[in-house]
Amino acid sequence: MIITKKRDFQELLDNIKDYRSVFLIGCSECAALCGTGGEKEVEELTEALKAEGKDVTGGIVAKTGCQVLGTKKELKPYKDALEKTECILVMSCGAGTQAAVELFEDKAVYPTNDSLFLGNMTRFQMFDERCSLCGKCILDKTGGICPITTCPKGLLNGPCGGMQDGQCEVSPELPCAWVRIYERMKRLDKLKEFCETVVEAKDWSAGQKPRSLYAREKKEK
Ligand code: SF4
Ligand code: SF4
Repeated sequence: MIITKKRDFQELLDNIKDYRSVFLIGCSECAALCGTGGEKEVEELTEALKAEGKDVTGGIVAKTGCQVLGTKKELKPYKDALEKTECILVMSCGAGTQAAVELFEDKAVYPTNDSLFLGNMTRFQMFDERCSLCGKCILDKTGGICPITTCPKGLLNGPCGGMQDGQCEVSPELPCAWVRIYERMKRLDKLKEFCETVVEAKDWSAGQKPRSLYAREKKEK
């Protein structure tokens, strides 16, 4: 999931200082789980903006805010309210904000959240980064643990010389990613494979931005 956190409210007010009417779009997926764009947060921001004299013309929690066509359909019942709205506030990740930019070519669109990383909820409302979207996954070689993301140095054949008693040199509160990989391979009885595997220098071109994917298979003619 995409991990987000709320932007500073005063900064948001400054962003929208030229607009009186706003419409809010939350997201029921990652942002709701992060507590940045669910029903409760849309209600809270609505009240906070009203207290600042803004005219909140409406708000929804889109099922998937980054899904352009789905969000367009969900917004149809709000056509009248949206027509008289000057500015759209998007309470999801940066992709959701840019979905709104595609849908509202002639209106100002602002994010209410900062998008931080792709991660897991490892405890309630505790999020840890797990994948850097490198474009060519090496988890098949590393016991399913990503050293690119969970080793601060992104070492492909660690550990580095700074590892101390299984803890990371850079972030001593965290276990060394390569110790975790070793322990997991040992648990799976794959130490021979671990010792024989050399992860080749990565071809980073698969991560070159901006990336697009057409997921449907092309039909044979
Ligand atoms: S190897 Fe790349 S795609 Fe796989 S988890 Fe790590 S960053 Fe993500
Ligand atoms: S101690 Fe381990 S996790 Fe930390 S930087 Fe070195 S190899 Fe990476």
